[in-house]
Amino acid sequence: MDSARNNPRIFRGTGASPGIAIGTVRMTDRGRVAVTETAVPSEDVPLEVERFSTALSKAREDLTSLKLQFASTHGPEHLYVIDTHLLILEDSMLTQGTVELIEREQINAEAALKRNVARFRDFFAGIEDEYLRERCGDIETVAERVLRNMIGTRHEPIASIEGGKVVVVAHDLSPTDVLQIDKGTVIGFVTDLGGKTSHTSILARALEIPAVVGLESVTAEEIDGLPVIVDGTDGTVVINPDQETFRDYLKRKQHYEYLEQEFLKLRELPAETPDGHRINLMGNVEFLEEVPSLMRHGGEGIGLYRTEMLYMNRPGLPDEEEQYQVYSAIVEKMAPLPVTIRTLDVGGDKFATDLHLEDEMNPALGLRAIRLSLRKPEVFKTQLRAILRASARGKVRIFFPMISGIEEVRSARRLLDEAKEELRRTGVPFDDGIEVGIMIEIPSAVVIADLLAREVDFFSVGTNDLIQYSLAIDRTNEHLAYLYQPLHPAILRSLKMVVDAAHAAGIRVCMCGEMAGEAAYLPVLLGLGFDELSMTSVSVPRVKKVLRRASKAEAERLVARALACSTAADVEEFLKREISAHFSESFD
Ligand code: PEP
Ligand code: MG
Repeated sequence: MDSARNNPRIFRGTGASPGIAIGTVRMTDRGRVAVTETAVPSEDVPLEVERFSTALSKAREDLTSLKLQFASTHGPEHLYVIDTHLLILEDSMLTQGTVELIEREQINAEAALKRNVARFRDFFAGIEDEYLRERCGDIETVAERVLRNMIGTRHEPIASIEGGKVVVVAHDLSPTDVLQIDKGTVIGFVTDLGGKTSHTSILARALEIPAVVGLESVTAEEIDGLPVIVDGTDGTVVINPDQETFRDYLKRKQHYEYLEQEFLKLRELPAETPDGHRINLMGNVEFLEEVPSLMRHGGEGIGLYRTEMLYMNRPGLPDEEEQYQVYSAIVEKMAPLPVTIRTLDVGGDKFATDLHLEDEMNPALGLRAIRLSLRKPEVFKTQLRAILRASARGKVRIFFPMISGIEEVRSARRLLDEAKEELRRTGVPFDDGIEVGIMIEIPSAVVIADLLAREVDFFSVGTNDLIQYSLAIDRTNEHLAYLYQPLHPAILRSLKMVVDAAHAAGIRVCMCGEMAGEAAYLPVLLGLGFDELSMTSVSVPRVKKVLRRASKAEAERLVARALACSTAADVEEFLKREISAHFSESFD
């Protein structure tokens, strides 16, 4: 084994999910995308062919740039493989053969490609020469790349990983990859791409899987099978740790786990300041499976139930009954605590396979969230009816994502009224007084918060997007992470405007962006006057601990002075000083 491989190496990225994992690296770049065959109406056939050609071009581009990237670090034997794959992409049996299948059988491009590859497999299976027979594997790998391009994700076969204490290292992982993680096998993950508020990271925190993202090129290293330490709290990854480092991290791991146990003891205590001010601490969830963790951490309800996972990476869309079953299972499990269900928020960095979203130049600014729901009223009303039906099973609140103006709220509410009327006509029970809210995550909504507050029962501030749109930084771009500043004066002022507008109109205001779960920001959010904070489960006791030692009056004074600062660095500096003077014991 070459000696460089045995040296300790340290990589630094973004701590995406806290906790320490000590295990063995498993590079994940193999796997097969599952494909379901669906019939395509004849008028959509050209569209399928187009999708296939676009995916082919993308595969060609990706391989060419990989070849360039590896030219300086890898010998020709590796580049030869890329050349072979590029040649396969030009093979007309693969390309034309798939197009013919789409056209003749009128099926989706993914299924046509899979069928075509199966034909190759049959052909190669009959070849005696083992080496030649194995070449079919290359065709499958190339086809997989094209398939993944069509599906729009870079899935790795996480579910198929075996062994114990594995740390998955991948270029990128999708939220559904994270979902597939069996914590008995995979104890952490590390990726080249991603930022702290990407949905992959959010999910890792929800599932309590230590993770470091945004390492840029860790997958270019030859580290498969090596010992690794992942510190998801501060974003450090150590490959081949020496004895001393190993012992140090083992100690830190034990300390983290001890603290986690201590925090859990706070579960039964109220989320209240010593001067008697209560803030509801709720959970952000995407799956029923996360509810036990939320309860264990003392969540007082669900402040953000993201429903998009139901629509992603699957053939077809979930029908009303399927959605009703999923929503009511969560509502019943949480009852009598409230569940705040957000309507579909696909688009941006969340893709739904079956909504036939076109490629957009700027997906974050594209046809997403409420815009998409209003464009597809039948899809939207199916969801609204399912949510309304679930409201008969416990306490449900409903809210709409990405509201930019009054018209969207009114249109959404009109469709909600229609959905109610449809249920009423068929005698299906629901909560007629269901509270309706909106996400405040677009700067225009901040500016007209006073007008919006007259239209709804509550606000929920999504700082992940609000920061992205206010500061014009892509929340998933690791190169811009340094500009992602929750304490930017523009953000603090926006938050103040929103809270003040909500309270002037007599409605409640929640924050459900990641900022809400950072215990260090609690004094600011308390001083601003948020009524509810919704966060990933593990943050609930951490935030509660600070809240139980903070003073509302003190926090208000702190915010008034923070609002007078002119840069994020000044605010941070000021807060650090104040927090160590007035709130320090809360962070012990
Ligand atoms: C947000 O934007 O802050 C938010 C909570 O919504 P999401 O992260 O799902 O976009
Ligand atoms: Mg958002």
